[in-house]
Amino acid sequence: MSKYDVAIIGSGPGGYVAAIRCAQLGMKTAIIEKYSTLGGTCLNVGCIPSKALLSSSHHYEEATKHFEGHGIEIPGEIKVNLEKMIGRKQAVVDQTTGGIDFLMKKNNIDVYQGMGSFIDATHIKIDGEKEIEIEAKYSIIATGSKPSNLPFITLDKERIITSTEALKLKEIPKHLIIIGGGVIGLELGQVYRRLGSEVTVVEYMDRIIPTMDASLSKELNKVFKKAKCKMMLSHKVESVVRNGEEVVVKAKNKKGEDVEFKGDYCLVSVGRRPYTAGLNVEAAGVKINDKGQVDVNEHLQTSTSNIYAIGDVIKGAMLAHKAEEEGVFVAETLAGQKPHIDYNLIPGVVYTWPEVAAVGKTEEELKESGVAYKVGQFPFRALGRARASGDIDGFVKILADEKTDEVLGVHMIGARCADLIAEAVVAMEFRASAEDISRMSHAHPTFAEAVKEAALAATEDRALHV
Ligand code: FAD
Ligand code: NAD
Repeated sequence: MSKYDVAIIGSGPGGYVAAIRCAQLGMKTAIIEKYSTLGGTCLNVGCIPSKALLSSSHHYEEATKHFEGHGIEIPGEIKVNLEKMIGRKQAVVDQTTGGIDFLMKKNNIDVYQGMGSFIDATHIKIDGEKEIEIEAKYSIIATGSKPSNLPFITLDKERIITSTEALKLKEIPKHLIIIGGGVIGLELGQVYRRLGSEVTVVEYMDRIIPTMDASLSKELNKVFKKAKCKMMLSHKVESVVRNGEEVVVKAKNKKGEDVEFKGDYCLVSVGRRPYTAGLNVEAAGVKINDKGQVDVNEHLQTSTSNIYAIGDVIKGAMLAHKAEEEGVFVAETLAGQKPHIDYNLIPGVVYTWPEVAAVGKTEEELKESGVAYKVGQFPFRALGRARASGDIDGFVKILADEKTDEVLGVHMIGARCADLIAEAVVAMEFRASAEDISRMSHAHPTFAEAVKEAALAATEDRALHV
């Protein structure tokens, strides 16, 4: 039987990054993945394929709607070849997952393909082509998550679908009804709206992306409405039924009235749930909490001291970079180091266009905790770079402590915000004040100038260009 210092179950961004860091630190490492490709949800059916389709559909929208304004004329009709677009997406996925195979080899990590399950706290059975057993001093559970569903919905995966199917449709829906105005619903809703689908978003709460700062929800809602998406907020979905090629969604609106939506596809995107099926955690004494998550302490250690857990399968935001940080954290903990993660500084991004990005506290959270704060906001439309590109929607908002000027939260919507948020993370890691940011030179003309201007506005209400 092969013996390892560490065995990692699950090869998503949590698992494969943990494996690399363990190997870098000199541990004999194994990784177990039930699917034939490595990379987990993120690389196969999550972050990467969704961003590939967002990019392709963005190019199409640019060509059909915005090229003309730039003086670019394309004779003839511009058409979408969906099969080719989905094929390109798959090629990007294949190249990316292939890259993980390379990284495993490079770091001398043993890869086992098959379903991993605990025999006891130090032995794991792998059900692959043949059944094998390995011994591991430490294990890391990185089994990720699966889409959630509502109890009354039958997902037929043809017309009533999750994100996984929405990433490989064979036709452009005529009318896509989306249940849940969160990250998945909005990213994939925008993809199909750009490609020509009618899109209706049915959201239970009174705003989309409800966990982000309310100003971002409001601005993004405007963007979707401008694109002629129907945004049905405060709607409680009560049934979803398929009749042949039609899907009927029934809901109650805020006034308690019955409303009905008819489309040809329904995407259910109401969140994801931790995945531990078939792992046989009980045999290892690992406890699952009432949310179905693997229970961990502040060291990400489970109820069994030699078994750790990371990523979507434990508490916290379900984000690839959060899983990665936790993978590194556990590897370094096992090596006797004292790593640290500041969960307040894990940024959140929605890759719509304009992009939405945030880090730190929202205004709602600051109000609730009674912290006195000041706000500095700056619109992209006031920047030369934004006008030159034709991307003038959105703003940067900085929340700083009223007394100390320390930056407590940064919320932005606009072109390239997914990348711009990194500056805010760096500033907050170093506990910068708004004035610190405002005194740093930002290249002109860039979108990043909006961060400096928002910081100036927060410091002394002295933005220069509004
Ligand atoms: P996962 O990536 O889910 O990987 C878990 C792996 O474990 C899977 O490969 C699974 O097959 C394997 N596994 C499970 N049980 C076993 C077992 N018993 N034996 C062997 N293998 C097992 N996050 C972002 O930060 N940015 C984004 O842009 C983004 N976009 C997304 C878009 C979509 C459509 C979706 C669905 C998600 C997106 N996410 C995004 C979320 C991100 O994918 C997850 O947060 C991330 O993948 C979690 O990583 P993980 O390592 O915890 O688990
Ligand atoms: P989500 O939690 O982002 O959004 C779910 C939405 O569904 C919420 O707005 C919620 O209020 C709504 N909802 C819940 N029950 C409902 C009901 N009965 N009727 C109508 N609306 C209802 O979840 P998601 O969009 O499914 O994404 C799942 C996870 O994947 C998220 O945690 C997210 O972090 C991750 N993800 C991240 C990215 C990214 O980082 N860009 C992209 C995609 C997915």
